[in-house]
Amino acid sequence: MIEFQNISKVYQGKNGEVQALEHVNLKIMDGEIYGIIGLSGAGKSTLLSMINGLEYPSEGAVLVNGNNICGMSFSGLQKIRRTIGMIFQEFNLLNSRTVRHNISLPLIIAGEDKAVIRERVDKLLQFVGLTDKAEQFPDQLSGGQKQRVGIARALVTNPSILLSDEATSALDPDTMESILDLLKRINKEMGITIVMVTHQIRAVQKICNKVAVMQSGKVIEEGEVFQVFSNP
Ligand code: ADP
Ligand code: ADP
Repeated sequence: MIEFQNISKVYQGKNGEVQALEHVNLKIMDGEIYGIIGLSGAGKSTLLSMINGLEYPSEGAVLVNGNNICGMSFSGLQKIRRTIGMIFQEFNLLNSRTVRHNISLPLIIAGEDKAVIRERVDKLLQFVGLTDKAEQFPDQLSGGQKQRVGIARALVTNPSILLSDEATSALDPDTMESILDLLKRINKEMGITIVMVTHQIRAVQKICNKVAVMQSGKVIEEGEVFQVFSNP
C-alpha cells in the first residue's frame, strides 16, 4: 500500500515560493491501477516523485508498504527503489547504448550476474515484443517501441510498483492504446501496482480502477473511475 498523509510541498522558485501540493491524503492499495489526473502544474509529478523519494514533502509523510520514505537512510531508500520501477514521457533512454544494454542497466548497477541479466532481459524483451530489436539503438525505434524499452527497463528488477509519468502523452492514439494494453497486462499478469500520472482522461478510463483528480495542488475528487467520471 502507498499512503500519502497530509502532504504539502513548497518549492523555492525564482519568483518566490510555489505551493505545489496542499494537504493531500490518498491511499493506493496493492494491485490497483491508480490514475492521477489534472492539468499541467496541478502537482501530479511532484506527488508521484515522492513515492520513490525523488522529491520530499515539506510537510506530511509518504508510506510505501508501511515504510516512511521521508526519514529513511540512503541505503534504506535504495532498497525501496529496487521495488519501484518508473517510466517517463520522454522515455529517458541512453541513445548510445543498445536496447539490451538499456534494459540491463538497473541490474548492471546492482552488480547482478551476467547470465542472470541475459536471461531476465530476454524474457522481458519477449514480454514487450522487442526480441528482434535487442541489438538496435533507441534512435532506430518508433516512439511506441522506445516506451516498450522503458517499460522493460522499469520491470527488470522485478518491482511490485510501477510509476508512470505521462508515459503515453508523446505517442499517437493507436500507439497509446497498445501501451495502455501492455500496462494492463503488467498489472494483471505480474500483479504489479501501477500509479499513473496523466492529463489524458482516455488513459484513465481505459485501464484505471481508481482516480484522483488534482487541481492547483489539491485533490478535488477521488474514487472509482466510473463514479468520478459519471458525476455531472
Ligand atoms: P510536467 O508538467 O510534464 O510534469 P514540468 O515542466 O512541470 O513537467 O516539469 C519538468 C521538470 O522541471 C521537473 O523535474 C520539475 O521538477 C521541474 N520544474 C517544473 N517547474 C519548475 C520551476 N518553476 N522551477 C524549477 N523547476 C521546475
Ligand atoms: P504537474 O505534474 O501536474 O504538471 P508539477 O508537480 O510538475 O505538476 O508542478 C506543480 C507546481 O510546482 C507547478 O507550479 C510547477 O511549476 C512547480 N514546480 C515543480 N517542480 C518545481 C521545482 N523543482 N522548483 C520550483 N517549482 C516547481
